Amino acid sequence: MNTGTPADLAPRLRSAADAIRDEQLARLREITALDAPSGDSRALKPVEELLASWLTELGGSPVLHPGPAGSCIEARFEGSGGSHRQRVVLCHFDTVWPSGTAASRPLRLDGDRISGPGVLDMRGGIVAALGAIEILLDLAALADPVTVVLTPDEETGSRSSLEVITRAARSAEIVLVPEPALPGGALKTSRKGWLSYELHTRGRAVHAGLEPESGINAIDEMVDQLVELRQLVRGDVGTTVSCGLIRGGTEVNVVPDRAVANIDIRVPDRSEETRVRGFLDGLNPVRADAGLTVELLHSRPPLERSPAIAAAAARASELGRLLGMKVGEGDAGGVSDANIAAAEGAVVLDGLGPVGGGAHAVDEWVSRDSITDRTALIALLLATS
Ligand SMILES: [Zn+2]
Repeated sequence: MNTGTPADLAPRLRSAADAIRDEQLARLREITALDAPSGDSRALKPVEELLASWLTELGGSPVLHPGPAGSCIEARFEGSGGSHRQRVVLCHFDTVWPSGTAASRPLRLDGDRISGPGVLDMRGGIVAALGAIEILLDLAALADPVTVVLTPDEETGSRSSLEVITRAARSAEIVLVPEPALPGGALKTSRKGWLSYELHTRGRAVHAGLEPESGINAIDEMVDQLVELRQLVRGDVGTTVSCGLIRGGTEVNVVPDRAVANIDIRVPDRSEETRVRGFLDGLNPVRADAGLTVELLHSRPPLERSPAIAAAAARASELGRLLGMKVGEGDAGGVSDANIAAAEGAVVLDGLGPVGGGAHAVDEWVSRDSITDRTALIALLLATS
């Protein structure tokens, strides 16, 4: 049975989402009782097993793609319509919290507020997404298939998940990403790109008092390179450059022969990314005989608000209205797996997860009502797009 117009379906999905609130809280409590330190394949095992068991209960057949940083989990749910359209729900199950956090800071419920490690980023989103699939299957309202992809290393750059994400995104008509919503429930329709560089300078070590003229100061060379990099900053479009780590030298009276700096660069769009990459590729030592190497450690392309993404956000907003919620859109500072999916040309809706606060902080919390709202919204999106 498929179920008429979105307007007919919305109230049914809303009451179905209301009916699984306790079950969703129990799921969130269960997963929050497990540590999920990003990219730690051993520590992540029990979380992978739990997620695989939930996907199996829902009727999916989870496939684990093991990698050095943990396993990517992929599960496909067939629709009743027999179509071959591909929709993907993309989540990460790692958190920024080290092993031991789950025991010291278990889930707490205080009115509408659920606190605990990773409840907002993004365990609340996982629970909402699985709840959405559950109610759609219960109501026989999932016409087209959907593939759930759960990644183990988003917080540290998704190196190990990259292949699975890009493959899934390439064949998908739409990729739904239940990362936390912006305050007020808005979707994230643009995200900056991220480039993480490491610069090494090399000089010649000598006594700083006896024969400084025969040395080459690698720290001075680094300082000059960092000054060069200031030219990249473009406040008008939002390109930022931040040197976050710097080290070098051995003693104050020794001209240093080595320095290392780590640079975080954020870019609003592809053309700025190209400009930044070209600039870094073209850096040369300022001092004769100094050495310089420039290494790109990590990068994520920008998520640009394409006309197709804007249209999908407008559609989500319209569906939200049918469910009695306001779903706006906005720009997000950080990066997510949505950046990777969008770079493959997929239409991506990010920030579909619940609202809350304190992501990556000890006071992290998620709104219980919002999990219910987003469950209904994700379900309505999957049922009708
Ligand atoms: Zn996240």
